[in-house]
Amino acid sequence: MIPVRGYEGKKIAVLGLGRSGLAAARALEAGGAIALCWDDSPEARAGAEAAGLTLHDLSRPGAFDGLAALITSPGIPHLYPAPNRHIARAYAMGVPVDNDVGLFFRAFATPEWDRFDQTPKVIAVTGSNGKSTTSALIHHILEDLGRPTQLAGNIGRGVLDLDPAGDGDVVVLELSSYQTELARALTPDIAVFTNLSPDHLDRHGGLGGYFAAKRRLFAEGGPDRAIIGVDEAEGQFLADQMGEGPGDDRVIRVSVAQKLTGPGWQVFARKGFLSEYRKGRQVASIDLRAMKGLPGRHNHQNACAAYAAARTLGLAPRQIEAALASFTGLPHRSQLVAQKDGVAFVNDSKATNADSAAAALQAFDRLRWIAGGLGKEGGIAALAPHLGHVAKAYLIGHSAREFALQLGDTPHEICETMEQAVARAAAEAEPGETVLLAPAAASFDQYADFEARGEDFIRHVKALTG
Ligand code: ADP
Repeated sequence: MIPVRGYEGKKIAVLGLGRSGLAAARALEAGGAIALCWDDSPEARAGAEAAGLTLHDLSRPGAFDGLAALITSPGIPHLYPAPNRHIARAYAMGVPVDNDVGLFFRAFATPEWDRFDQTPKVIAVTGSNGKSTTSALIHHILEDLGRPTQLAGNIGRGVLDLDPAGDGDVVVLELSSYQTELARALTPDIAVFTNLSPDHLDRHGGLGGYFAAKRRLFAEGGPDRAIIGVDEAEGQFLADQMGEGPGDDRVIRVSVAQKLTGPGWQVFARKGFLSEYRKGRQVASIDLRAMKGLPGRHNHQNACAAYAAARTLGLAPRQIEAALASFTGLPHRSQLVAQKDGVAFVNDSKATNADSAAAALQAFDRLRWIAGGLGKEGGIAALAPHLGHVAKAYLIGHSAREFALQLGDTPHEICETMEQAVARAAAEAEPGETVLLAPAAASFDQYADFEARGEDFIRHVKALTG
């Protein structure tokens, strides 16, 4: 845990008692603050009380008197569609609102660092898609090369649950737009922007607000290096804003759509090969087609961003190449589950919207595609240009019929359940084909979450493939 200093003896309210809220309360107390906890859910409150934390009803009159700050959780709206009522009260009372990420950046550096040979560094990753994969991949590369490293943020561990940094430690943080929009301190050494596509628009008042939230990661502290995907206008704008001129290698541009040229620092992937150019010269070339854990153009984008991050730390291209090859992928994202009789079975249950499913559909040559669940607005209409590789779709869940109508001439069958879909796809698949779960829909009609859906797919695949 990272004790939060600077609030000794002060009263800090913590709103939202999920993983990050509980970690924030403990870290505040460890630093000498008085953490006053609240959640509108009685179960969450009971959990906090059982963990020895102090409850403080924020809806009571006078509840905000004497508070030095309010720490809130990413799931609680602080602006759009409307601020949560407790947060609105903090605004009205002039109580500063912050989150665990803001506390982390204030608390991370300690006087102990004076004795270190290598100052610890923070790499923060944001973007619409690929955040988890890119963060996990950077962490994997560092681990593989024996560098001390820790991974946290949106991915598993709360930022304040990290261990205090040791000599030469590299902390990799995956940060969502909710987190970057609110944090009052945001000072990574290296900031990564993967890509941008519309998502969470209700929470940010539209695409402009969503981009502005992500952009704060680059604007607040001014990272030493900015690694930016430039395949959309937003990334191009951000890269331009961060650089002082074409040769400024504080910015590393990343692309999977074009060969990047110019005197600056660039990493791009074309036809399965990653290239690094610096000062107009090619520095490295890596064949990504052999990387089993990183199939498809979208993963090549993640590989380029992670490679660039590792290069900023001075790691050599050949070392990074070996580490990329040993990455096995994250569960539920392009996860190779089994191979039998020339047919591969891939779990991409995390493809909960059309954009991420589009990426998965382009990653494999000939597909037996399992899709459906609780569809998002527009269903799979946006996927029409990406159906060329689909031999047949097997549709499940609530949206099966809506998806069937949108599939047009693409062969399809309504299967209702995962068991049925896996059985039918496996029976019809021919050698060289991939059976892919990429639902383009949320899971909540049939499962608790996307992980449970992915596990169910894996179970049925294993039962068939032995
Ligand atoms: P995030 O943490 O940003 O949600 P993940 O790495 O968990 O990203 O991937 C989420 C989904 O998006 C997965 O279905 C994955 O296949 C797809 N995806 C991963 N990387 C990218 C990318 N660079 N561009 C588009 N889609 C991607």
